[in-house]
Amino acid sequence: MPELPEVETVRRQLAQWMVGRRVERVTVTGRRSVRRQPLEEFIARLTNRTVVDVRRWGKFLLIDLDDSEVLVIHLRMSGQLRYEPDPGVEVERHTHVILALGPEPEIVELRFVDPRTFGEMFISEGCDARGVPVELAHLGRDPINEQFTEPDLEQLSRGRRVAIKTLLLDQSKIVGIGNIYGDEICALARVRPTRRAESLTKPQRRRIVAATLEILNEAIEERGSSLKDQRYRDLFGGLGTYQNHHRVYGRAGLACEQCGAQVKRTVIGGRSAHFCPTCQR
Ligand SMILES: [Zn+2]
Repeated sequence: MPELPEVETVRRQLAQWMVGRRVERVTVTGRRSVRRQPLEEFIARLTNRTVVDVRRWGKFLLIDLDDSEVLVIHLRMSGQLRYEPDPGVEVERHTHVILALGPEPEIVELRFVDPRTFGEMFISEGCDARGVPVELAHLGRDPINEQFTEPDLEQLSRGRRVAIKTLLLDQSKIVGIGNIYGDEICALARVRPTRRAESLTKPQRRRIVAATLEILNEAIEERGSSLKDQRYRDLFGGLGTYQNHHRVYGRAGLACEQCGAQVKRTVIGGRSAHFCPTCQR
């Protein structure tokens, strides 16, 4: 599932060529991909609008239109966006939405491919003071777009008996971190992912906050992580390279690069977690 670094990679690529282009036509063939509003309304509000900016909030892409409306795109489990400079190229299987972007006659396409159809697109009903669509108002802070400090983490952890990794993945508290980066943040911070959030010391919280920023920024520089299933590809079909730098994720049984101990795998909240039993306390 794409996490913040993968979505940020796609955002940067979208911003390069989409800003200033006009939506000439919208084709929706997968009804589940546009499910929050009537299809005719979605198409009408998007057609003939020019893209003025491409933003990101957590794992959501926000396409700002020239009439102040916002197209929200969530890739979820298996969604991918593809840039197609030649509309004549055959549409691949599981393509559910196509935006034809002009101006005419030089049409390029943005294609939304999603085999498992959990992803979606919708036009927001408006943004709050932070510029966040009202539909996403229940979500927590974005650690890259907003300030994220030790006092913030202290406040989020107070009285929380959940594992620190569960807290990091709780989108109502912090947005954008998933299973891969949750493990990597705990590894760099030298904190065991199973540690109860409320039991962390101030130095540990400081290290987690610093590791969050460092890991996410490093992963953005490497254009995200593409795992063996190669499900994550960027807008131009490229693979990320951050999987080559993972400290613990997917490395169970292999030696920790810091101390040589075997990386362990456990389960937290029904999801796998990886850590070094020597380095992480
Ligand atoms: Zn170690």
